[in-house]
Amino acid sequence: MLNMIIFGAPGCGKGTQSKLIVDKYKLTHLSTGDLLRSEISSNTELGVIAEKYITKGNLVPDEMIIEILKKAIDNRPDKSNGIILDGFPRTVAQAVALEEMLKNRDMSTVVLIDLHVDNHELISRLLYRGETSGRCDDNLETIKNRLEVYISNTVPVCNFYQNLNKYKAIDGMGTIEEIFNRITLVLARCT
Ligand code: AMP
Repeated sequence: MLNMIIFGAPGCGKGTQSKLIVDKYKLTHLSTGDLLRSEISSNTELGVIAEKYITKGNLVPDEMIIEILKKAIDNRPDKSNGIILDGFPRTVAQAVALEEMLKNRDMSTVVLIDLHVDNHELISRLLYRGETSGRCDDNLETIKNRLEVYISNTVPVCNFYQNLNKYKAIDGMGTIEEIFNRITLVLARCT
């Protein structure tokens, strides 16, 4: 079972690469950003709370997102193949909770793939996406905060997975196809 994490700064291509990985490896895609946006569009209590954080580019509280992810893992329709986590974990506390929740389900992560993209490129990709995404957080002010939050809260997750020997960094610059090829080479070595 291939359970993996696609990781990197906002705009690094996690969502785009996830689609290609899902097609090739038949994994269940779990994007915490998508799960939160669906709570917001259904106007649930969780969605109303989450929107306040997302609009500012801040992280929603760990306990809240951990519970949402746990439910999504347990309710995934296809339990035969693995999962690809996109946007989770974003803090070391979430990483600890993830490893624990997978262990309790006789699952474990195989690898975290970190897509490296330079800051200038990230900002231009997010601004370009903002022209059509309709996302409340794809504007310059929020993007800047998301990148700062990424560095202060999320980058330490790399070290956590390095210590578990499950960390692989990949050059996330280039065409979608080039980056996907780099990912498949890494996955070939860990599956
Ligand atoms: P994304 O679609 O992954 O860029 O996520 C959009 C926003 O949702 C983030 O900027 C956060 O506000 C929130 N979010 C998504 N995943 C998480 C997470 N694992 N922990 C905390 N907040 C999250």
